[in-house]
Amino acid sequence: MNYYSLNKKAPNASFKDAVIKGLAPDKGLYFPETITTLPKSFWDNIDNLSHTEIAFEAIKQFVSPEIPEATLKTIVEETLSFDFPVVKLNDNISTLELFHGPTMAFKDVGARFMARCLGYFNKDNTNEVTVLVATSGDTGGAVANGFLGVKGVNVVILYPSEKVSDIQEKQLTTLGQNIKALEVNGTFDDCQAMVKTAFLDESLTSNMQLTSANSINVARWLPQLFYFMFAYKQLHKKYNDIVFSVPSGNFGNVCAGMMAQQLGLPIKHFIASNNENNVVTRYLQTQLYSTKPSVQTISNAMDVGDPSNFIRIQEIYKNKFEALKDNLSSYSFSDGETKAAMLEIYNNYNYVADPHGAVGYLGCKAHLKDSPNTHCVFLETAHPTKFLDVVETVIKEEQPLPEQIQSVMGKEKVAIKISTYEDLKIFLLK
Ligand SMILES: *Cc1c(COP(=O)(O)O)cnc(C)c1O
Repeated sequence: MNYYSLNKKAPNASFKDAVIKGLAPDKGLYFPETITTLPKSFWDNIDNLSHTEIAFEAIKQFVSPEIPEATLKTIVEETLSFDFPVVKLNDNISTLELFHGPTMAFKDVGARFMARCLGYFNKDNTNEVTVLVATSGDTGGAVANGFLGVKGVNVVILYPSEKVSDIQEKQLTTLGQNIKALEVNGTFDDCQAMVKTAFLDESLTSNMQLTSANSINVARWLPQLFYFMFAYKQLHKKYNDIVFSVPSGNFGNVCAGMMAQQLGLPIKHFIASNNENNVVTRYLQTQLYSTKPSVQTISNAMDVGDPSNFIRIQEIYKNKFEALKDNLSSYSFSDGETKAAMLEIYNNYNYVADPHGAVGYLGCKAHLKDSPNTHCVFLETAHPTKFLDVVETVIKEEQPLPEQIQSVMGKEKVAIKISTYEDLKIFLLK
């Protein structure tokens, strides 16, 4: 499969080049040239297919021929070595738990898939790359874990000092090997700005192949379409009209769901559930797309003022506003509403949701008011103990720490402190 740049000023790239570059030379996001729907026989037979088989059929067209089928099967199988259960709250609402991976965030799927693709491309030691990533918390852990030990891939994670949770800091600073953590004296925006500067700095890019591991990278973005299929497999016999409510920040996840729909997955509608960072909610109301600096909320992985993947969503709908609006609704909720929802979910269903999932739940409730005969699935994008302070304060009950979290808590943090872009550059060039 070839990919074109959405800025349309760069040559098309193979899957391999798109993954290694991350962003096209014209700074556009890559998008697949064609999307071929899967045959009816695939959907008719989905109950008999394993997760690996479903994912393999879905992703094959996007990566072949550069990764041979047998290798791809192994990559998919290793990526998906945990469960994706749907838990029913009531007749109209379920949640799809995406937190059973090693760092307990949905980003594990994309990070593990991308790491294995890069590892394959470097199998002859000819394509050494440095993955540079800024994190406000969850991305860093998932990338660190996913890329640990991958040959020929050096990972450098920038995180804002004292602004990630203890658990998140441990997840990204304790692994060693090819994973280096830089503790930045500044905010997440400062980290992100340093990464962006690095990608544009020729004195760096002429010395090393830099790539990104956030959802702009096609190998991290596309595998996210798998779990919409896994949910469908679990639900399609019980419910006709399935709607997904996706807690959204950079809109990579909901955009991946739309790609699953392009492959033929019968999804009735999408809801992009936002916190107060609501540029898309406002766009769907007013048709005006105006970005804003992000504001801090308790669902901090969605504190994004200018969602990087929205341009891919526009591409799917050929920039036709009405077509997009028919398929996507968006709602925005305050921290107060989110906390009330966490308590409501706990009291009514004895279920502990994290703040991001709770925003998704509120999106379902809003949608069901207008479309009561649908079944709405909200994505639980992280395990509640990753946001322990908020969760325990709201539901007033201590939460047991799962094994994945406990196992990092006792390890020793190793991070290098930096303050300026020059510090980053010196670190990368040494
Ligand atoms: C990254 C993240 C999101 C947002 O996903 P996008 O693909 O950026 O829209 C939501 N919830 C959690 C817990 C996350 O880590």
